[in-house]
Amino acid sequence: MKLSKLIFQSIFWVAFISIFIVITSSIFFQYRDFQAEKTNLKEQFMTQNKELIKNEVNKVITYIEYQHNRYYSEVKERLSQRVNDAYNIAMAIYNQNKNSMSKEEIQYLIVTALQNISFSNHRSYYFINSNQGDAILYNTQSKLGKNENIWQLQDKNGTLFIQKQANIARSLKSGFVKNYFVKPDQKMGQEYPKLSYVKLFEPYDWHIGMGEYIDDMQERLEENMLEWISTIRFGNQGYIYVNTLDGHALVFNGQKLEKPKYWGSDPVFKKEVDAALNKENHYFYYKFRKLDSMELSNKLGYVVLFDDFQWLIGSGIYIDEITLTLEKKREELNRSIVYQILFFIFISIILTATVYYLSKRIQKFLDSSVNYMKYTFDKASKEYYEVNTEKITFKEFQALAKSLNKTLKSREEVQKKLRNYLKIVDANVITFSIDKKGFITEASKAMCKVSSYTYDELVGQHFTVLFDTQSETVLFKEIWRYIKRVHGWSGEIQNVDKKGEVYWLKTYIHANFKDKEVIDYTIIAEDITDKKRVEHLSITDGLTQLFNRRYFNEKMHSEINRVKRSKSCLAFMMIDVDYFKMYNDTYGHLEGDEVLKEVANVLRHFTKRSTDFAFRLGGEEFGLLFECERVNSAEGYANTIKESIENLKIKHRHSHKGYVTVSIGLVIKQYNEIQGSNEFYKCADKALYEAKQLGRNQVIMDV
Ligand code: GH3
Ligand code: MG
Ligand code: MG
Repeated sequence: MKLSKLIFQSIFWVAFISIFIVITSSIFFQYRDFQAEKTNLKEQFMTQNKELIKNEVNKVITYIEYQHNRYYSEVKERLSQRVNDAYNIAMAIYNQNKNSMSKEEIQYLIVTALQNISFSNHRSYYFINSNQGDAILYNTQSKLGKNENIWQLQDKNGTLFIQKQANIARSLKSGFVKNYFVKPDQKMGQEYPKLSYVKLFEPYDWHIGMGEYIDDMQERLEENMLEWISTIRFGNQGYIYVNTLDGHALVFNGQKLEKPKYWGSDPVFKKEVDAALNKENHYFYYKFRKLDSMELSNKLGYVVLFDDFQWLIGSGIYIDEITLTLEKKREELNRSIVYQILFFIFISIILTATVYYLSKRIQKFLDSSVNYMKYTFDKASKEYYEVNTEKITFKEFQALAKSLNKTLKSREEVQKKLRNYLKIVDANVITFSIDKKGFITEASKAMCKVSSYTYDELVGQHFTVLFDTQSETVLFKEIWRYIKRVHGWSGEIQNVDKKGEVYWLKTYIHANFKDKEVIDYTIIAEDITDKKRVEHLSITDGLTQLFNRRYFNEKMHSEINRVKRSKSCLAFMMIDVDYFKMYNDTYGHLEGDEVLKEVANVLRHFTKRSTDFAFRLGGEEFGLLFECERVNSAEGYANTIKESIENLKIKHRHSHKGYVTVSIGLVIKQYNEIQGSNEFYKCADKALYEAKQLGRNQVIMDV
């Protein structure tokens, strides 16, 4: 992925996710707030509306009370006025006559004076009772002298109103009393509400009073009040209803009913009564239909009993109104959320454009730096090249370039060292490579030097070019077999350089692999020519260049072991020049040396096989050790050698033949017959002795 693309994507996603988180969390909090507000609103709605209906109901109660009192105060005014008038009349009669008339006469005058005064269609009239309970003027009838005691009289509510009146007169001198009483023109038994004013008439310990039936007045007041109540509206569809305590609806659904409607059996009404009579809580829950619908809705009601009228005055609120309000609020919230989402989309578009523009700019900067870095890195990978840090825009890249420069510098130093080292190796280590078929692909200077070939002459040649012609095939086969088997070989190889000079290499060949497959071989070698020379000298006879006596002892031992291992047969010839002392004496010692060399050449000629060895055992005595297959062939072989030496025709005056000849003692033994090197040697020596004895120039075989 491109860095610039990554940056673009990172900026974009970080910004996008941030905005997304901000908007969603804002929406989340708004929603949460709304949920909290919902509960609050519900509570608030309930408290407010509870308060509202309570206030509205109480307002009505207060107003009715006020109106009620206002009506009553008029009545009271009137009654007290009239009673005071009666009192004054009675007092005047008393004062005028108290000295001239008897008590009974004065009492008679007073009763008569007041008896016939009445108001309001005779419904309002004076009454007099003694404060002990005797009726004096009762229901417009004089009870003087009749001794009628009405002390125990009570109305339909059980009020002992005579006693009450007497008490007020005595204690307060005057005052109002409310009770129920029959109407004089109405049928007996029916009692109507009546307000009376009584005043103490001190001379006779009477109380004079007058009452007014207040049912008419109350009826009018009630009518007015019901009219007024039915017009009351508040809040959303709020109204006041009025029921009588005995179960009649007067104002229903905000309307005054022409005829009170009985609904006292309805469970809602029962609840209403309970709430109204409950001294602590006038609230109650119920179901009721709305003004504009037939559906039942949950309502909370508040109801108070107005005792004077026996009215239940109440109001209710539809609880589900809060649901509507909340629904409205929710719609508002949803709208706001939609706006926020649109805003988010808008911001995202702006953001994408901005980030795209910015990323393009950053990309341009980055690309120029990166391209320059790439260019310099490429260059630095091929050669030593330092990055120009001033051309790089960003500090991070500058730091990178600086560290690259450092790396390059140290790499350059290492490479320098390596080059020097390789130079040293190239000059001093004999090494070359061959491919899988054995063709030389690489060669060090040291290799070129030791082999006398130039680099170009070596590369492309098969590596057997380095071997001498004798060992070429054998060695190649041996090495190649090894290599194929164990992927390596080490050993000493006698090589021949371009000029034909022999040199010896201790050689290590190892395979190089790629993916477990041999791809080529590397050869590292050590020039051991000098060592080989010393070795050669130590086993070579200086005059004849055959192997010396020391090497013979070694070889005899190892060859015996070898044939025993291979279960073959070993032969040994002891060759001694005949009459050699005399030769020396005749031709001189130097000539004698030449003869020894010539004999040695013949022996060398006949020991070409790898299992043939020719030795100079000492003086003019030679040894020939070889593996053989048959006795006959060995004997023939010995005779051939003997004859070849004779055929050299080296003049020797004192020899039988006139030439230099040799005597040969031959021993041939199967591997299991050989007892030891000494015994084997002795056998040959014995045979040689015999050959000498028998006249020389012959081969005698030990049997
Ligand atoms: P025979 O036929 O019995 O072998 O007689 P011979 O004279 O060959 O044997 P003898 O053992 O008596 O003499 C060996 C002689 O070989 C003695 C010595 O002068 C000579 N000789 C030994 N070593 C060398 C050498 O390195 N060079 C020369 N020129 N002569 C040597
Ligand atoms: Mg001899
Ligand atoms: Mg001898």
